[in-house]
Amino acid sequence: MSVGLPERTPTSLLVGGQWVQTATHLQVINPATLGSLAEIGDATPEQGLDAVAAAHDAFGSWSVSSARSRAEILRKAFDIMTSEIEDCARLIVLENGKAWRDAMGEATYAAEFFRWFSEVAAHVQGDFRYGPNGDKTIITDYRPMGVAYLITPWNFPAAMATRKLAPALAAGCTTILKPAAETPLTALWVADVLERAGAPAGVVNVVTTSKSGPVSEAILSDPRVATLSFTGSTYVGKLLLEQTAKRVLPSSMELGGNAPFLVLEGADVDSAVEGAMVAKMRNGGAACTAANRFYVHASVADEFAVKFEAALRGMKIGPGIDQSNDLGAMVSVKERDKILEIVQEAEKEGITATAVSEAPGEGAFLSPYVIRDVQHGSSLTRNEIFGPVAPIVTFEDQSEAIRMANDTEYGLISYVYAKDAGEGIKVARQMESGMVAINRGIASDPAASFGGMKESGLGREGGFDGIHEFLETQYFAVDL
Ligand code: NAD
Repeated sequence: MSVGLPERTPTSLLVGGQWVQTATHLQVINPATLGSLAEIGDATPEQGLDAVAAAHDAFGSWSVSSARSRAEILRKAFDIMTSEIEDCARLIVLENGKAWRDAMGEATYAAEFFRWFSEVAAHVQGDFRYGPNGDKTIITDYRPMGVAYLITPWNFPAAMATRKLAPALAAGCTTILKPAAETPLTALWVADVLERAGAPAGVVNVVTTSKSGPVSEAILSDPRVATLSFTGSTYVGKLLLEQTAKRVLPSSMELGGNAPFLVLEGADVDSAVEGAMVAKMRNGGAACTAANRFYVHASVADEFAVKFEAALRGMKIGPGIDQSNDLGAMVSVKERDKILEIVQEAEKEGITATAVSEAPGEGAFLSPYVIRDVQHGSSLTRNEIFGPVAPIVTFEDQSEAIRMANDTEYGLISYVYAKDAGEGIKVARQMESGMVAINRGIASDPAASFGGMKESGLGREGGFDGIHEFLETQYFAVDL
């Protein structure tokens, strides 16, 4: 297999159906080698506004196109993406660093958003009712909001793009996608797939930039922009909410997480370890849904830690492009060092942290850590780690474990391993998180509502809810 970029890898901005050059460029780095992968367009705020104009111009005809025709474009995008899935995975590996298996998993998941929303597009239901007083009929209608600004993070460069583009296009919105500067190539590739699938000029625009703040501020201040959908850190999400508040702009936010992973008394330890390997290690731990802290009942705590450590030690670390590696590079040396700083902070608190294996010296690699006997409240349980570090807190009392699990400002996802599904659901109902995985290590599914409570976000993506982030509800009172 080739280790270079796929032949069709755009590197300039996409505005109004044209690939547009920029005066300055931005380097995309391969975190496994620290070498340069490509030079891409570095947009100015003015070029961001060009994208707004293009999306606004395209909205008139796209918004009144039939749902079926939009569905067919999305379905074609699914077919193209699926037939070129290895190209997508290769791009993800090269610019993000993750292992090949994780990249293939992401690419497949990303394509599924096109298929799912092609199905949802043609099934949006309004409502017709008689007013209870008999004076009117009540019609609830939905219409596309308008130009949608979509901002995505680096950790799932394909899936975060399709999770927003697919419902926005299904709803009849036109879009401006701004991917993270670390991983713009995958987003450009996805946009090219939509162009090839027949998305008309201006329906999908992509602005890559090193100046996220000024470019986004210009775009969000423009009255032609109707909605923001953001995925990224809670810190940046709050900054953007301050800006969107000025225009009372609808804002969907998928933000940070600090997921607890509970192993209750009587749970099957082997399946809990298997689930922990997925919940903690998918994407090398760089997932908003990653299990961040483990609360394990005292009766199985040692057995769980020993087996988890052994499974982590068995992971082969190295460049994701080599399919035999299980754990790739972190996205950058800076991100790798941020994780190491969290470990060092914990060491200052008196915790002993030893890596389970050795990582290659070159590139942004990091060996996993299992850190036992952690006290709830330590920096390891408070921070979103976003890497392969697993702190374990032991508990005796289940209600205390639930209290500790909920003791965070985040509320994206929780994992519960219980003796059976009944007990799992009982505990899940007490978790303050938008999603709970019960006796399994992964919950994400394009057909399910994804999103968080508390500071993990506003709104939902995927499922039947995702399209409503891009639809305005309009009520007609009709005197018949
Ligand atoms: P980030 O918040 O630093 O960046 C996210 C996006 O915002 C990027 O495109 C970035 O360029 C842009 N950005 C940065 N500063 C900006 C500004 N001032 N104005 C406008 N845009 C700006 O996050 P990240 O480091 O790329 O991603 C990691 C974070 O994303 C983690 O906290 C993770 O939990 C979260 N995340 C959440 C979900 C979810 O669905 N809840 C999914 C994936 C990642």
